[in-house]
Amino acid sequence: MAKPIPEKNVDRRSFLKGAALAALAPAAQAATPGHRWNQEADVVVIGSGAAGLPAAIIARENGASVIVVEANSDIGGHAAVCTGNIPLGGGTAAQKAAGIEDSPDLLFKDLTDWSVVGGNGAGQYRYNDREIVRAFADNNVFAYDFLVSHGLTWTKPVPDRVGMNQAGQSAPRAMHAAILQYERIQTGVVEPPDDREDHCRGIGIVRPLEASARNLACRSSSTTG
Ligand SMILES: Cc1cc2nc3c(=O)[nH]c(=O)nc-3n(C[C@H](O)[C@H](O)[C@H](O)COP(=O)(O)OP(=O)(O)OC[C@H]3O[C@@H](n4cnc5c(N)ncnc54)[C@H](O)[C@@H]3O)c2cc1C
Repeated sequence: MAKPIPEKNVDRRSFLKGAALAALAPAAQAATPGHRWNQEADVVVIGSGAAGLPAAIIARENGASVIVVEANSDIGGHAAVCTGNIPLGGGTAAQKAAGIEDSPDLLFKDLTDWSVVGGNGAGQYRYNDREIVRAFADNNVFAYDFLVSHGLTWTKPVPDRVGMNQAGQSAPRAMHAAILQYERIQTGVVEPPDDREDHCRGIGIVRPLEASARNLACRSSSTTG
């Protein structure tokens, strides 16, 4: 059976190993007489990547009990090894501060306008489900605020176009998560101090969200006993 996000200071490797084994438990339970489920939660999140960590945090912040199950040896999935460029427009605080005009409607139009094509003549990303793109456009500002309020640090405050799909983007929207003091998953190497706030990497997204998730679970266990 899956384990909840543990208290702070619990060794990550132990937690993850437990979580990974726990993910296999249902089959074992069916096959092993006497085994029973001994944990339950309002929300069980499968996978602790770019989608799973925010889902777990938001569920927890809205009062749900949450179990996160991760199959890998560390959390973060592809998000942990990604470059860390996050295109977020629609009128984010960073865009407003930089005097960049944008809105959810403009973002939606940019992502769905079939008349805009890239250098190869293709309308990249414009074949996606319209309802999902609409929801994405409407929630960019929320996503930006969520990331900032859960510990992400940007390499610079002004949005640019680095790492964005270039065709048809009316406004600079890309923000970049600073790698900070975190080890790169791929190499185990920590950036030299002078580069930590300038270099972007996905581990700078994952570790702050991981810390938020663990802190939320800690608060929960201390208030409920
Ligand atoms: C090299 C690279 C660079 C990238 N750069 C960028 C970038 O700069 N900007 C950008 O926006 N996107 C980038 N991406 C894409 C981005 O990383 C993904 O779109 C994003 O991580 C997808 O989020 P996700 O939650 O769907 O999947 P993931 O982040 O991969 O998370 C899924 C998690 O679920 C776990 N899992 C899967 N199955 C199970 C199971 N059965 N039980 C338990 N756990 C399970 C996985 O182990 C993993 O941890 C990049 C991707 C790569 C590979």
